[in-house]
Parts: sequence; structure tokens; C-alpha cells
Amino acid sequence: MHDFRRHGHTLIDWVADYLEDPRRYPVAPACAPGDLQKLMPTAGPVHGESMEAILSDFRAAVLPRVTHWNHPHFHAYFSVSASGPGVLAELLTAALNVNAMLWRSCPAATELEQIVAVWVLDWLGLPPDWFGMILDCASTAVFHALVAARRRAGGPLETLTVYIADHTHSSIEKGAIAAGIPPGNIRKIDLACLANVLRDDRARGLRPFFVAATVGSTSSAAIDPVAAIAEICRAHHVWLHVDGAYGGSFGLLPECRHFLDGVARADSFIVNPHKGMMVPLDCSLLYTAHPEALRAAFTLRPEYLRTDVETVDFTDYGLALGRRFRALKLWFVLRYYGREGIAANLRKSLDLAAWLADRIAADPRLELAAPVGMGLVCFRVREGDSATRDLMRRLDVFASHTVLDGRFVIRIAIGNSGTQRSDIEALWKAITTALS
Ligand SMILES: *Cc1c(COP(=O)(O)O)cnc(C)c1O
Repeated sequence: MHDFRRHGHTLIDWVADYLEDPRRYPVAPACAPGDLQKLMPTAGPVHGESMEAILSDFRAAVLPRVTHWNHPHFHAYFSVSASGPGVLAELLTAALNVNAMLWRSCPAATELEQIVAVWVLDWLGLPPDWFGMILDCASTAVFHALVAARRRAGGPLETLTVYIADHTHSSIEKGAIAAGIPPGNIRKIDLACLANVLRDDRARGLRPFFVAATVGSTSSAAIDPVAAIAEICRAHHVWLHVDGAYGGSFGLLPECRHFLDGVARADSFIVNPHKGMMVPLDCSLLYTAHPEALRAAFTLRPEYLRTDVETVDFTDYGLALGRRFRALKLWFVLRYYGREGIAANLRKSLDLAAWLADRIAADPRLELAAPVGMGLVCFRVREGDSATRDLMRRLDVFASHTVLDGRFVIRIAIGNSGTQRSDIEALWKAITTALS
């Protein structure tokens, strides 16, 4: 343990320096596919090596090939933050090494998961009696919702039909395919026509069972009219899933609470604390009004896992037997920052995105490609796609793109806790310089 203590202290100092100022590293590495593989032996060491050797290779070979998601100039995908309290909790989680499969396999892990699930629900103003559980990511979580809904619908798979929109995250289509829904029954529709489509499909002998609505789409942070969709889903007895993986966190802010209008009437809902709440990857909350459907779909107990305690055993509600103690980091972060601390970071991202959007809207060479209501700015050069691509190449921040209305669009996601007004001012300066 002497080695652990010594290197542990050094590493905590290293992490503190890193989180304090990730700017000492380039946001994205300059390397080609296979670079790291060429540097490393093709077989693992037969005998153990010293921690010095491992750390030295981490610094020399691994670190230079890391994309720094913690960097304030990381604006790709969704910009997120690993906070100090979250990192410390991960250290404890690894040390405790518990498996949160059953209450008995670690009572604290099961109960803390229930506690934090209720806290977040309360902060978002959603029904307090919803069942919540933590999964690794939203893609896994929506697969669980799909399987529960499929179980509730029953009957042959061939006629079950799923409804998504053009901007729905790909994880829902992927989850539906993995859940055995025929790909031809995964219908991409204009959700404004949902009622008619459901009626027509039923008349054709199909069995609509799952509709996915989104609060904060990945491409453009768009929000579907969830309340109206919920009404239709109720009338047609179809499971409504709301994907708030990114946008759900904004419900913490009173001024954004309306983003979640209608979500209370959904059958399942996802929010990713690893996106909006400064919790290190991975941590996704799945809520449902129908835990019995999850249980019916996923309960299978071999003798060696039977217990005689009456309590929630999370393995009964999902595919995984082995489950990480993810609730610990969520609990650390929620307590350390409090609702207001997390809200302040979300509010900052809204303000910075609005500031940048105002500049773009006022520049005749540029145009916003979508309204800006969360921490995401989508814009393009009016001249055309190749000018937009060219601009993106010339920015020294890490951005990503999408296609909206058939046109190439630069996405600037703002959410990192280290991103300051001066960073966004510098980005705007870089944009105007590149255009001139
Ligand atoms: C990020 C995102 C997902 C996928 O989340 P993972 O946790 O990476 O699986 C799904 N839906 C939306 C709207 C997202 O923004």
C-alpha cells in the first residue's frame, strides 16, 4: 500500500492541476489512427511493471492522444464537465468495488440510487412516484424503456410499430432494432401528424406501441410539443418516451421549466447527469411510471441470487447483473453544488450561447440554422456548405457539425464549467477573422 499512497497523492495533485487548467493541453490531439498501437507492445507484460513505468507511458504516450473533453474550448457533441467531487466519488467507487445488483449485495448502493433518483425528479418537478434507476448511458436506458413497452404491448413483434421524428436520437432506432422490432416498423414521421398516422397504421393492422419525443435534440436542441404528443399517446394507449438526455437538466432552472411541459404524462423519461450536471461519464437516469413492466421484462433469478428481503433489487429492472455504484458520484455532485450550483453552470451556458447567437444573427455573412434555446448554437455561412466547412476547419476550437434542412451546419455546444465569456469572445473573433 506504500506505493498506492505515494502515487495516489501525486495523482490527486496531477488531477487537481489538470481540472484547474486543462488549457495547458490542446483540446484535440494531432494524431493518426493507429499511432498509439504502433507505440505499444502487442502482448501484455508477463511480469508486473512499476507504477513509475506505467505513469511515465501514460504521460508520454497516452495523454498526447487524448481529446480533452474538460477543455473550455471543447464545443463538439455536447460540452460537459467532470467535476472534482465527481472524480473523488469515482475513486471511492473503485475502491469499494461493490456490485449494486441486489439490495443485499450492497444496501447503500441500492438505497443511494433510490435517494438521488428522487432528488433529481423533485428538482425537475416531475411525478414523485416515478421509479428511477441509473444506467451507463441514454442508449442503454432507452433500450430498457423499449423492452418494457414491448412487454406491456405483448403479441407478435411483426406488427409492433415505433414512431420517431427526423431529429430523434439514433439510439432509439438502434434500441428498437436490438429489441427485435422489424426495421420497417420504425417509422420516421412528422410528430405533428401523429394522431392521423396512428389511426391509419392501426387500420392497416399495425400495432403502434412506442412514440419517442425529445426535449433538446442532439442536432439542434429542438423541443417537441410533448404535452400535445402525450395527449395523443394516452388516447391511443401508446407508450410515450421522452428523451431529455441533454435538455432534461435545464428543467432545474425555473425560467426553463416549461421545456418539460407535458413530460409528467410520459411513460418513461431519460436525463443524463453526465451531460448537464457535472457528473463524470457515465451516468444516465431512466424514469418510468411503469416499473412493473421493466420487472416483467427483466426478472430472472437463479437460485444463488435469491434473497428473502422485500426491497428493490435493481438487477430485476434491467439487463445488467453487475452494476456500478454510480449513485455515489451523483450524490457527491448534487450535494457539493446543490441545485443552485448546478443551475448556475447551466445558466452560464445559456447566456454564453445567447451571446454568440446574437453576434451570428447580426452578421450578414452568417445565419443561425436553428433557434437557440439551450447551450447549443447551430449556424452556417450564407454563401454555402463549402464556405461553412472551410470556416469550421479554420477554427481552433473542437466543434462538430450536423445537417439541418439539407445544409451543413457548425454546432457550437457550450456547457463546460471552465468556459468563460472571454473564450466565447475569442471564438467569435476567430470566426470573423476567418471570414474576412
Ligand atoms: C447524448 C444523447 C443521447 C445518447 O446518450 P448516451 O448517454 O451517449 O447514450 C440520446 N439522446 C439525446 C437527445 C442525446 O443528446
